[in-house]
Amino acid sequence: MSAFKYIPEPFRIKSVEPLKILTREEREAKIKEAHYNLFNLRSEDVYIDLLTDSGTAAMSSAQWAGVMQGDESYAGAKSYYKLLDACKDIFGYGYIQPVHQGRAGEKVLLPLLLEKGKFAISNMFFDTTRAHVELAGSRAIDCVVEIAKDPSKRAPFKGNMDVERMEQAILEHGADKIGLVVMTITNNAAGGQPVSMQNLREVSQVCKKYGIPMSIDAARYAENAYFIQRDEAGYQNVPIKDIVREMFSYADMFTMSSKKDAIVNMGGLVGIKDPDSPLILQLKANCIVAEGFVTYGGLSGRELETLAIGLYEGVDENYLRYRIGQAEYLAAKLDEAGIVYQAPVGGHGVFVDAAALFPQIPYYEFPAQVLCVELYKEAGIRTCDIGSYMLGNDPDTGKQLKADFEFTRLALPRRVYTQAHLDIVADSLAAIKARSANIKHGYHITWEPPILRHFQAHLEPISD
Ligand SMILES: *Cc1c(COP(=O)(O)O)cnc(C)c1O
Repeated sequence: MSAFKYIPEPFRIKSVEPLKILTREEREAKIKEAHYNLFNLRSEDVYIDLLTDSGTAAMSSAQWAGVMQGDESYAGAKSYYKLLDACKDIFGYGYIQPVHQGRAGEKVLLPLLLEKGKFAISNMFFDTTRAHVELAGSRAIDCVVEIAKDPSKRAPFKGNMDVERMEQAILEHGADKIGLVVMTITNNAAGGQPVSMQNLREVSQVCKKYGIPMSIDAARYAENAYFIQRDEAGYQNVPIKDIVREMFSYADMFTMSSKKDAIVNMGGLVGIKDPDSPLILQLKANCIVAEGFVTYGGLSGRELETLAIGLYEGVDENYLRYRIGQAEYLAAKLDEAGIVYQAPVGGHGVFVDAAALFPQIPYYEFPAQVLCVELYKEAGIRTCDIGSYMLGNDPDTGKQLKADFEFTRLALPRRVYTQAHLDIVADSLAAIKARSANIKHGYHITWEPPILRHFQAHLEPISD
């Protein structure tokens, strides 16, 4: 490996998907038609789609072979048992429930632990997880370490929980009012920043002290394990699979979107460590009404099969080195261009600090959304706002909240884009930076739904 200047792809391409490149005029018309909301664009009008790394991966030849191997039996399919074996081997949990995606796992699990008047604490809630906490009648409290809020300050494990603040929150509300602690690994909303093993251990100790259940929001657990191996003292020679085992040993349960590190296009999991937990019966009941019978949980047999294979591919060390290497390559290009991002770069993409790029645009005019629209106009690149536009309004007062960050997220789909694509992304950002002072205003919302508004809202540019 060390003979190469960059970390190269540990695979070759077997099937290609042609892309269309529109003109700038065509793109300006398309984004206007989409009400300046990138979720409203047709994907065929996008050249490089960095909207999300969720469900956008390229499956391997082994997974495509698994599509034919899938057992489509309603109950007790062979593919279900193959998935169980993989999960028990990787996570070491007593009960595993497949579901159709991560939020389905949240939907069937969180109401068992939360209700009106209760709170859930996290290093930082992902948007759908926060929504499920609120739908259950509870309130979500974020306690990420302070340093995470300074994107330009490099530090390892900026995704960590501030354990002291977490304990204060427990004492303030009363331990009996805290239904759940959720560790999001990696911390998506804080820029894909990893959580250290030590932090997981400390959070687990506090949870045990107060008798609060601890869950892992595990979408990017493999990337998190890679960062622990790379950056945390004592783990350099520990295999990824052993690191994963230790990470999960600290929690009581997990929900997972398998559309990320498990490298499938659709799927999710819920895991409960204790095979005798009374939660399991309730979880199964919720699953049967909402997702389907427990041995398929809303997935087809071929999806159970490809998930069982993808879980192993996702913890492969050569793959992970290439995967994180892509994010590092793009980040190094942005360093050259003087563009600020959540540093050091996290696992699944680069989170550009749009507030630093457009200091003239206030949070309530959504600077990160401004950069999203500019990147689309510039080169047909689709990204997403992880800032005040995504955060939305206070559920109690209806007032626009101010997010800790105004990030434009350049999420990297797994095994999909090449280094040449990343060069175009970096060059486009540099071009936008060169004219950033000429962009005087942001956007205002002309229509929004009450919850998770960023997927559907309509926006309009503010003019002088
Ligand atoms: C994607 C994601 C979810 C939700 O999963 P879906 O599969 O999109 O429903 C929850 N938490 C985190 C941290 C995620 O990244």
